[in-house]
Amino acid sequence: MQNQFQSKLQPDDPVEKILTGDRATGQLHIGHYIGSLQQRVELQHKYQQTILVADLQGLTDNGNNPRKVSSNILNVVADYLAVGIDPSKTTICLQSAIPALAELTMYYSNLVSVARLQRNPTVKNEIASKSFGSSIPTGFLMYPISQAADITAFKATLIPVGDDQLPMIEQTNEIVRKLNSIAQEEILVECRPLLSKVPRLPSTDGKSKMSKSMGNCILLSSSEKEITKAVKSMYTDPNHLRIDDPGQVEGNVVFTYLDAFHPDINYVNELKVKYQQGGLGDGTTKKILEECLQEIIKPIRERREMFIADKAQLIDILRQGSEKSQDESNQVLNRVKKAFGLNLFG
Ligand code: ATP
Ligand code: MG
Repeated sequence: MQNQFQSKLQPDDPVEKILTGDRATGQLHIGHYIGSLQQRVELQHKYQQTILVADLQGLTDNGNNPRKVSSNILNVVADYLAVGIDPSKTTICLQSAIPALAELTMYYSNLVSVARLQRNPTVKNEIASKSFGSSIPTGFLMYPISQAADITAFKATLIPVGDDQLPMIEQTNEIVRKLNSIAQEEILVECRPLLSKVPRLPSTDGKSKMSKSMGNCILLSSSEKEITKAVKSMYTDPNHLRIDDPGQVEGNVVFTYLDAFHPDINYVNELKVKYQQGGLGDGTTKKILEECLQEIIKPIRERREMFIADKAQLIDILRQGSEKSQDESNQVLNRVKKAFGLNLFG
């Protein structure tokens, strides 16, 4: 997919700030890896990057099961370290440990109508798939506002995201414009998304986006056996019954994954031609994909095991990152309060 915003990117701008994050709703998967983590590892060398473990946002659809969120905070941090995010280059912080984020969310909520939130296409899809019925948690409906608070609190202008998050960037910029117009000066800065080459990795059954909450993932901690099983069960072309039958590549998850993960594009293209002509079996393409995924995941899994064994270190990294982020976000909060005239005490 073409990123319409990428042309505006100024990679040499030294002051550009990046904010990304993940909900603490489960371990991270290969969709995160190819869709954003890999990119973050590169970006940390060029930009001032902050990564937020979004525990508050995780609660918005897990209010009745908060343990799901609390038990996954350190899992997410271990995943970051395992893929090569370096806490000396990237600030890793915890959303609930930065009070200004919740405060900003409250202020911004006065600038957004309920109808606007209900129109947000991602929120709409998620509400449908989560079967809330008529009991949509207020916090869930509001989570795009909370994301706007996160982004603006760090003065972030570049947001690496999967394509499911594009409506959130739009929503953030609407809030930024409204607030600046109330303040009659530029209090907040607009941001733009940065999409990776794989902005939406499908689940192994090809039915939806790979997603922590749907349990349709290949995790970065997956064992060799789990990877084998996941690849074997992958959706291919249901009409490709015999090896000699011509097969379809579009919508064939094995080829989508080969495109995303295999290092040799020419080889993948040759496989596609052969598959389309007939003469290449799903067993063979799956074997090729499996080897490729095993090779990528093995070193990540091994590093992850090492990091998750030292919980004190993970907590320390989060604490330091969160403390560092408090000052920065409080400054923005004070400017926003002032814009609303709520600065009686200075
Ligand atoms: P949940 O099901 O709890 O919403 P998730 O798997 O969707 O979890 P998030 O924490 O919501 O993960 O998303 C974190 C970041 O990873 C976002 O920028 C999102 O766009 C990106 N992302 C999530 N899933 C994928 C995917 N399958 N392909 C590419 N990027 C993804
Ligand atoms: Mg999500």
